[in-house]
Amino acid sequence: MGSDMDVAGYFRELDRALFMEGNSRYAGVDAAFPIGHGQTISQPSLVLEMTIMLDIRPGCKVLEIGTGSGYQTALLARFAGSVYTVERIEPLMTAARERLSRLGFSNIHYRLGDGSQGWEENAPYDRIMVTAAAHRIPPRLVDQLAPGGRMVIPVGRGMQTLTTVCKDMGGNVRIEGGIPVLFVDLVGDY
Ligand code: SAM
Repeated sequence: MGSDMDVAGYFRELDRALFMEGNSRYAGVDAAFPIGHGQTISQPSLVLEMTIMLDIRPGCKVLEIGTGSGYQTALLARFAGSVYTVERIEPLMTAARERLSRLGFSNIHYRLGDGSQGWEENAPYDRIMVTAAAHRIPPRLVDQLAPGGRMVIPVGRGMQTLTTVCKDMGGNVRIEGGIPVLFVDLVGDY
């Protein structure tokens, strides 16, 4: 990919209304909206910011936890080599898969289940994007991050901190806190 300008360009091109059928009249509003099952499509400016923070490079293998509507998945898949996305709510996963295949994406792999455990079989991942709030950083996700890899994850209870986890080539992990954010909870052990 993948300059920040390319990401911003595709972000402007991608019609958010396609991901929020019931609420499509609000697609242009910079806020999270319900997508059913107690879940939300994320605030678009935050989706853009998190995608830029993830710093996707050509051919990257990306793990996404929390497919939701598939809106963030589209931005990842446009610039990554492949995306492995995990969602725990079946109807959300099915709807997201239909939307993304209608948009022509063929580099996305879907799994229904608890993403706080990652997706071991296809690890390691160059990048991991978590779009639900963890109370602490799930160790299984850190384990599944490749050397030189990067994860973006909201961490905390109530209000969260958008956190970046970087693993160097020697496997050492560095954690950096960022802006305050508000995501629905990551359901599971973390
Ligand atoms: N980025 C998505 C979008 O733009 O539509 C929004 C994601 S929404 C804020 C968070 C998603 O994480 C929800 O769809 C929720 O069901 C999912 N989720 C929560 N805990 C999960 C878990 N343990 N494993 C997989 N998905 C999970």
